[in-house]
Amino acid sequence: METRNIYPGIEMIQVGDFHSCYLIRDESLALVEAPHPAEAQELIQGLAALGVRPQDLKCLITTHIHLDHAGAAGHLARENPNLIVFVHEIGAPHLINPERINQSARRTYGPAIEVIGEMLPIPEAQIHPLTDGDTISLGRTRWEVLHTPGHARYHICLFEEKEKILFSGDALGCLYPGAPLYLVAPAPEYDFELSLKSIARLESLKPEMVVFTHLGPSRDKTVFEECRKQHRLWVKAIEKVLKFTPDADSLEILKMIAEDIPLVKDFPQYSGSYILNIGGIKRYLMKKANPA
Ligand SMILES: [Zn+2]
Repeated sequence: METRNIYPGIEMIQVGDFHSCYLIRDESLALVEAPHPAEAQELIQGLAALGVRPQDLKCLITTHIHLDHAGAAGHLARENPNLIVFVHEIGAPHLINPERINQSARRTYGPAIEVIGEMLPIPEAQIHPLTDGDTISLGRTRWEVLHTPGHARYHICLFEEKEKILFSGDALGCLYPGAPLYLVAPAPEYDFELSLKSIARLESLKPEMVVFTHLGPSRDKTVFEECRKQHRLWVKAIEKVLKFTPDADSLEILKMIAEDIPLVKDFPQYSGSYILNIGGIKRYLMKKANPA
């Protein structure tokens, strides 16, 4: 665990190598994102290093209900029965009853689920469902809620208009130090067209700083174009493989797309994520070919 200040009034808590959450110090203390359930204690230690107890938090805002963004939400809500958890209205029922998320995680990760952990339910009274255009006022800062489907249909981003700060969740992919931006396109909800629409909307806000959940802040204005490029590259490469070898499994596809996507060859340490992308994009292409 590591903490650092990324902006006046905003602290980053990095949990493990891949996840971060952010403490906004305003009249109300807010946390953005909550990592894997198994990382709840590490998160609480991170808060303690910043002089904050879970009970001091007014709210948790999660960009979506995936385990690396809302996993520890139930743990925090248990520590602090007054905590308000903000989440898009489509995702809200799954935080009240996380059984479907836990089940699908067990299916996806198998025995590795042990290191991820299981989500705890959150009492309905602690959930505040969000829709596009809502604002969350913390005092000095006011965060606009932008519904940004594509990565998942219940994905939101948060934008502070005066400070021009954008919390992007997974809508603009991952940006790890020392690596190029890469895509997160998991099953079952990845949608290429919606992703591009959401990217265009975020770009039109002209943020000064984009804060990635994976991992940290960036002032690079090219992240939008780079993310668009990645979506096109990945979908095209996988479409091509499936055209000639429709029965290829994800590992075979991974080998074959390495030719077209340099990142896959050059940064094999993220291959777990690439496999998830392949599953998501395959499913998207199938849905597109056979609309229900
Ligand atoms: Zn996600």
